[in-house]
Amino acid sequence: MNEFDLIARYFTWEDSFSSSDKNSSNIIKSVGDDAAVLALAPNQQLVTSIDTLVSGVHFPKNTLAFDIGYKALAVNLSDLAAMGAKPEWFTLALTLPEINHEWLGEFSRGLKTLANEAGIALVGGDTTSGPLAISIQVMGSVEAGKALYRCGAKQGDRIYVTGTLGDSALGLASIQNRVELTNDDAVLCEQRLNCPTPRLKESTLIKDFASACIDVSDGLLQDLTHILNQSNLSDPELTLGAEIDLSKIPLSEPLKRIDKQQSLEFALTGGDDYELLFTIPESLETQFLEVAKVSGYVGEYINENAFSCIGTITNEKGIVDSNNNSLNTTGFNHFS
Ligand code: ADP
Ligand code: MG
Repeated sequence: MNEFDLIARYFTWEDSFSSSDKNSSNIIKSVGDDAAVLALAPNQQLVTSIDTLVSGVHFPKNTLAFDIGYKALAVNLSDLAAMGAKPEWFTLALTLPEINHEWLGEFSRGLKTLANEAGIALVGGDTTSGPLAISIQVMGSVEAGKALYRCGAKQGDRIYVTGTLGDSALGLASIQNRVELTNDDAVLCEQRLNCPTPRLKESTLIKDFASACIDVSDGLLQDLTHILNQSNLSDPELTLGAEIDLSKIPLSEPLKRIDKQQSLEFALTGGDDYELLFTIPESLETQFLEVAKVSGYVGEYINENAFSCIGTITNEKGIVDSNNNSLNTTGFNHFS
């Protein structure tokens, strides 16, 4: 099998979109020519991002091919969600050590499963030989001027997060035998690590209210620091910080069952959560919660899709808990 047969067999998916009008009219030329030709609707801006997953670095070598395909797209879609953008198209650069049909079939199925869920079309790519690596570039659209940024948080804004935090970190610890979990808990957390859900639906709701937004990929404290730093840049006088109520950090059942100190460490500093962290101006909070409720979000973190308010933006640099103890990415021994 040559490269062209491989692309035709695993990465030419016209069928997945032909039955719906989604995307069909904005793809002028897709896989098969020298480049794709895409049409952005009037008054829309293009939002684009790329992320690479390297075997042995971003996922363990024995990760299932389905999960690799799913996650490679998920982490990119999460970036679009953080920008408040609607997924439109993506390209795939695949570096393969060999042509393994079983692996390619499963990889393609994982990728396609999430692509169909998210309504994003594969419009091109590149296939090369070498150590396994997957680069995906996503393209999304947003109404001109409406993209969400990491900057924009103001003193008094309420800090929100979607879903639960720390599950992926616990999943990784479980895979690496650093913790012992029940089988059910291990499956749940490993699923969150390997097949994270990009918060696209939540993003469409957040985008009309949030002053700043980021997806949590490096850990809550790290990513909150990005929001604070970027928001401080707009004005040299600003010294924005954050106060976090640790009792409000949303934890899944498996996290609640492990040592409390350890669960907070996973939730605050663990990576790979792909939840959205965002700020809502106090004046918009009631309306935001009302819209969230009407849209079926109950505002309690028992619902995995819900939003939790975990704190407030302050005008004092740094991140502290409710007792004014400093929280940083390395130490919070006062939790115990
Ligand atoms: P070129 O040599 O002109 O760069 P290629 O032979 O690399 O073209 O690719 C041929 C077509 O197949 C192009 O439309 C390209 O976008 C598409 N393609 C290549 N690899 C992939 C892939 N892994 N997934 C999707 N489309 C791909
Ligand atoms: Mg060419």
